[in-house]
Amino acid sequence: MTDLQRSAELISLTERSTAHNYHPLPVVISEGDGSWVTDVDGRRYLDCLAAYSAVNFGHRHPRIVDAVRAQLERVTLTSRAFHHDVLGPFARELADLAGKDLVLPMNTGAEAVETALKVARKWGYEVKGVPEDQATIVVMDGNFHGRTISIVSFSTDPVARTNFGPFTPGFRVVEYGNPPALADAIDDTTVAVLIEPIQGEAGVVVPPAGYLSQVRQLCDARQMLFIADEIQSGLGRTGTTFACEHEDVVPDLYILGKALGGGIVPVSAVIGDADVLGVIHPGEHGSTFGGNPLACAAGRAVVDMLTTGDWQRTATELGQHLFEGLGRLADKGMIDVRGRGLWAGIDIDPDLMTGRAACEALLAEGILAKDTHGSTIRLAPPLVITPEEIDMVIDALSRVLTAK
Ligand SMILES: *Cc1c(COP(=O)(O)O)cnc(C)c1O
Repeated sequence: MTDLQRSAELISLTERSTAHNYHPLPVVISEGDGSWVTDVDGRRYLDCLAAYSAVNFGHRHPRIVDAVRAQLERVTLTSRAFHHDVLGPFARELADLAGKDLVLPMNTGAEAVETALKVARKWGYEVKGVPEDQATIVVMDGNFHGRTISIVSFSTDPVARTNFGPFTPGFRVVEYGNPPALADAIDDTTVAVLIEPIQGEAGVVVPPAGYLSQVRQLCDARQMLFIADEIQSGLGRTGTTFACEHEDVVPDLYILGKALGGGIVPVSAVIGDADVLGVIHPGEHGSTFGGNPLACAAGRAVVDMLTTGDWQRTATELGQHLFEGLGRLADKGMIDVRGRGLWAGIDIDPDLMTGRAACEALLAEGILAKDTHGSTIRLAPPLVITPEEIDMVIDALSRVLTAK
């Protein structure tokens, strides 16, 4: 079998054997190392998606691999029915990184979002005094928080919602970046605002300056929890540990996922102070795999890497390099470029090509990127990418945009 047949065969096998809930680009990856992946035909690609930031530190970062490998040799899963010797240190170190009291560990991002919503409702009834079953939570249009029934209940993306009803009540959607709209949606039943400090899936949408601090003020004034979904924006990507830091905003609850698992295992968490997370008691919430030893070992390595600030500085510097490069392409059919740190959303002129077509052309150039919402390309390479490799991305993008 030739190489090309092998990759076509594997794509066909996957298509015949999996539900069609994704439409992957036609590349079959078999190895990853740092910023690079190799396909089954031996072709190399620069990974500019980094698994939606889950591979923030590059594929198989040695420090994380070593930590996980050492843990594999000891114990991997105990369930929370018993204590194990990695959860305490991991939770303490993660809570300290966020400047909070407590961590509630889960596995995937959506589970952690669900956890935060449950915590907020319970806090609303038990601390704020909202009448039974009346709690409301305000969310933003264009949000992406995951795929569960409750989370798609407040999605504004018809593709994510259609034919998945009946939906979970208790959510109000307002315009992202519009403080008066938020103020209008609040009443005495409102227990929380759930917000992405930068909207990732919406196309790396950065809210207007001052918006997050205005949301924080409203939350303080109206006794509501500020819940920051930092699953994609957190852990170094934007040049700070948390994207909320760009406006000196401290949320009541942080939601983390993706990069927390070091690109090896799914690890998510809700982080908050005891007066909020303390509303959860034994039996009221949990997860068989949440906080397992292997996950905690990966998470500890990630947290440890973020304590010096070096990765955050790297993201800032590489981000400047990336945006300078993108700036040079301004006349090449790019309608808008935005982002923060090493994270860019690029709207290309829909008359030129679709985002999908651009990503297929980038693939042919040896660059992995993913389109979102029609004509937006998102770039989120691993933080181990070099300035020279960023230049390769810019050159490839320039060729793709001028090819037509
Ligand atoms: C990816 C993502 C999620 C969902 O995480 P999963 O691990 O896929 O469930 C939630 N919120 C944001 C902001 C995300 O980017």
